[in-house]
Amino acid sequence: MVGNNTPVFFIKDPMKFQHFIRSQKRRADNNLRDHDMQWDFWTLSPESAHQVTWLMGDRGIPRTWRHMNGYSSHTYMWVNAAGERFWVKYHFKTDQGVEFFTQDEADQLASADTDYHTRDLFESIAQGDHPSWTLFVQLMPFDEAEAYRFNPFDLTKVWPHADYPLTEVGRLTLDRNPTDHHTEIEQAAFEPNNLVPGIGASPDRMLLGRMFAYADAHRYRIGANYKQIPVNASKSPVHSYSKDGAMRVTNVSDPVYAPNSKGGPRADVEQYGTPAGWAAQGDMVRAGYVSHAEDDDWGQARTMVREVLDDDARTRLVDNIVGHLLNGVSEPVLVRAFEYWRNVDEDLGKQVEAGVHAKQDEKDPKAEKQANPARESMQRKA
Ligand code: NDP
Repeated sequence: MVGNNTPVFFIKDPMKFQHFIRSQKRRADNNLRDHDMQWDFWTLSPESAHQVTWLMGDRGIPRTWRHMNGYSSHTYMWVNAAGERFWVKYHFKTDQGVEFFTQDEADQLASADTDYHTRDLFESIAQGDHPSWTLFVQLMPFDEAEAYRFNPFDLTKVWPHADYPLTEVGRLTLDRNPTDHHTEIEQAAFEPNNLVPGIGASPDRMLLGRMFAYADAHRYRIGANYKQIPVNASKSPVHSYSKDGAMRVTNVSDPVYAPNSKGGPRADVEQYGTPAGWAAQGDMVRAGYVSHAEDDDWGQARTMVREVLDDDARTRLVDNIVGHLLNGVSEPVLVRAFEYWRNVDEDLGKQVEAGVHAKQDEKDPKAEKQANPARESMQRKA
């Protein structure tokens, strides 16, 4: 599981992944982080709206790692003993309750203790206050994906609980700290392609991209034989034909190729069935993509703003967005950001724009505000 503390992500196309990451990191010239490039990318990528609403909302700054939920975000496939296939999303709900920091609290803490989150988690576990998460799943029967009202494999969307309720499955408890941060944490290599029998991938393109990219990153980061490092090694013996590369420490024996007639390892389909998956022809879901009624980029962000957040949370959302936009975002990106939030919710967009202008006025009452071409054209049409 390579999850996140949000059920969605900024993009749905893995080809945009590196561009997204660069836009959130550092500029080429001064090596500084830059809000202008973040908003430049987001406002040109409307599919980001749902996740940016999360990020700017209360849950964007968890109080501790113990006080946040975890989600698979991606959809996976489950196959039961009878061979029936389901699409599945994982939700790890914190048993400690969801708590968050306001922007002000977080700003203060960031300078007071840069290791705050690691310290909190380590000390809690060391004191026997073991954090836990109740695991729920949402299950969609295989055939329902095709006609569902939006693409259920779109990583920027959640499956409404009303359609696919949460089913409790178990509990994850963190009850032991590492004794060697390097060997147990730094060298850990999580990858979504590491699947046990009965679990498979889904046609979520971001998941498929990550299935290649994570293993590649591990080979580069910790070496071709990273799976033989104890923290990553399977507890059961592994029989494969993987035998090359530096730092291999497990001996292999002949035959070193497959298929062979020499009794070498082979997939045990009698016991475990064929790998979970779908065929590229025939039952491939959504092969030639047809748009569905609710595939649009803004709807779920709008639902969150209007139906999930209360008035106080909406006020904090506006304040957070305004504060972020005032920190180095220039025209014309700023104007696009107002439009972006109006697309999520007209009223929210107005409040963001008014909030930014009010703060700009406080700073420099005489400055001319940049005309908002989108707004003017809307007003002309009206
Ligand atoms: P529901 O009313 O069924 O679900 C709302 C869910 O929103 C809650 O169960 C809770 O999920 C989560 N939530 C509550 N407060 C906040 C908050 N301040 N910020 C972010 N999430 C919050 O409605 P839908 O399923 O139709 O979803 C509506 C919106 O809820 C979505 O657009 C999405 O942003 C958000 N949401 C939906 C989830 C889903 O799986 N359907 C999961 C999480 C969020 P939880 O306890 O899991 O955090």
